[in-house]
Amino acid sequence: MKINVTKSSLPSYEEYCLEIKDIWDSAWLTNMGPKHVAFEKQLKRFLSVKKTTLFANGHLALEAAIALFNFPRGSEVITSPFTFVSTTNAIVRNGLVPVFCDINNNDFTLNVNKIEGLISKKTVAIVGIHVYGNVCDVERIESIAREHHLKVIYDAAHAFGVKYKGKGVANYGDISMFSFHATKVFNTIEGGALSYNNEQFEETLKDIKNFGIRGEESCVLPGGNAKMNEFQAAMGICNLRHLSEYIELRKKAFDRYFQRLRNIDGIFFPHRQDDVESNYSYFPVIFDGYKFNRDQIKSKLARNDIGARKYFFPLTSEFECFKKFNKGNTPVAKYISDRVLTLPLYSDLSIEDVDEICDIILGN
Ligand SMILES: *Cc1c(COP(=O)(O)O)cnc(C)c1O
Repeated sequence: MKINVTKSSLPSYEEYCLEIKDIWDSAWLTNMGPKHVAFEKQLKRFLSVKKTTLFANGHLALEAAIALFNFPRGSEVITSPFTFVSTTNAIVRNGLVPVFCDINNNDFTLNVNKIEGLISKKTVAIVGIHVYGNVCDVERIESIAREHHLKVIYDAAHAFGVKYKGKGVANYGDISMFSFHATKVFNTIEGGALSYNNEQFEETLKDIKNFGIRGEESCVLPGGNAKMNEFQAAMGICNLRHLSEYIELRKKAFDRYFQRLRNIDGIFFPHRQDDVESNYSYFPVIFDGYKFNRDQIKSKLARNDIGARKYFFPLTSEFECFKKFNKGNTPVAKYISDRVLTLPLYSDLSIEDVDEICDIILGN
């Protein structure tokens, strides 16, 4: 591919080498070493939350966030099927039942008017997804959760750096997961974190990510291994220095796409949300009644060596292993999933590249 749908943001080679020099000197590669400690502290400050716990990747962080609450097996979790499969996997791998709720047709987050109709005696939590960095209706979700005694967990994998009403997104809900996978706005190669304001969560999360061991002769719970290593943390330290530059560059490309593709019959975008400071993580486009359908646009781009992604298609509720949970009650999610395509977007995508992509989409 000449232009892929995404490309990892990297510091200069020299900057990373300089950062990892200490790792060679100390020969301390993992297990919450100095880079891990420093990066965790920086992130916590950046996210403006009381606590942040690092993980080897976003998925294991999300599994840990759900495991933290020790819900009885078979309990139900209200969630959206319009997401990366990781969200649904994390629910099911915790022995819980995903109850799929439809999404809004303007920002593709959970439709809060549909949540209460899905609550049963077995419901324990809502897992919302800040999809493409669009923020869920966190206030309504909080009030529903309070009334029905539910926990609120956010998959904020797309929302690193996003603010809502001037506050970091992780200040909403009980706990939020960020992914630092190579393909995300901010990466630590692989990596992830949980952010939360309840300081009591910290010890258990550390147990879950480090075998449940405390000291040499104590294991308090059957934890796994989900520790972020020192090389990942070093990449995080470097990339965090440049995050505002990366986001600024993404915004330039984003704005150019918007300028070129707006006001075209049959081409739609999610609404820009009020009170949200965006991270410009994705550029999703809905082709609905345009001269070419979504799959034709994807093929046209592929013929020109340009990658675009049907993100998200299919819905997670349509995957073989989750069909048994699919009640067919998410028509809006289905509609969007059948028509959405995310276009290439990354920090060193040039305006010329954006123009080439738009020319292909708009041409015959
Ligand atoms: C990337 C992503 C994940 C998983 O994160 P990893 O760091 O790749 O494990 C989960 N949910 C969503 C919505 C994602 O985009």
